[in-house]
Amino acid sequence: MNLNILCLYPNIMDLYGDNGNIEIIKYRALKRGIEVNIDAYTINDEDPDFYNYDLVFLGGGSDKEQKVVAKDIIKFKKQIERSINIGIFYLLICGGFQLFGKYYKDSENNIIEGLNIFNYYTESSTNKKERCIGNIVIKSQIENNNLEILGFENHGGQTYNVDTPLGEVLYGNGNTFKNKFEGLKKENVIGTYLHGPLLSKNPELADYIIKYCLERKYNKKITLKKLDDEFEIKAKKEMLDKLLTTSKS
Ligand code: GLN
Repeated sequence: MNLNILCLYPNIMDLYGDNGNIEIIKYRALKRGIEVNIDAYTINDEDPDFYNYDLVFLGGGSDKEQKVVAKDIIKFKKQIERSINIGIFYLLICGGFQLFGKYYKDSENNIIEGLNIFNYYTESSTNKKERCIGNIVIKSQIENNNLEILGFENHGGQTYNVDTPLGEVLYGNGNTFKNKFEGLKKENVIGTYLHGPLLSKNPELADYIIKYCLERKYNKKITLKKLDDEFEIKAKKEMLDKLLTTSKS
């Protein structure tokens, strides 16, 4: 079995080591004997064939970087839309998540056009100091189970009109200041403000994505071999205990 991954603009959209998410997918797949091929696309490269991939990844970026990427990515709107419709998995972090919505209005009121694939839109506060920054915990439904997802958010952008969020906020801000919800979740799309990198802190989510991609590709039920996640689980528990206890006191 193998996984084919496309990283979009990894040299531009890699805030807080977002590309590490793909390293985690690779590591966890290889441990199970699943081969992994990772291709990158960035400005001036040959156009990628989106339909060849099982997973497409886009990380976060500053406003300046988002502006550059927005101008280029728009030429792939049709391929991206169609590849989402046929079930290819998309993982989008922060600035990448924002770019899949209608638009992003930055702190200087410039409009950066989004791909307009989803109905949400993002507006930044004009006060550059007003940002959602810090640890965040959300409760998400992954394969009908509740999963606490831990990460770190740092965004000025406030995202409105998300119809199917990734999770309920237990600690932190979410899609806007003090929002009840965070991110976007469709069957084969996760958009989120959680950096971290997200998947090193939440191995369950990494496995969900690997499993989804393999089941779609091979059209059969996949059971992933359990890995020794003792260290990851302990580290996560430590943070969850600390954050969720603080929020209650
Ligand atoms: N520039 C965007 C914002 O500040 C996204 C930042 C990010 O990707 N962390 O909201």
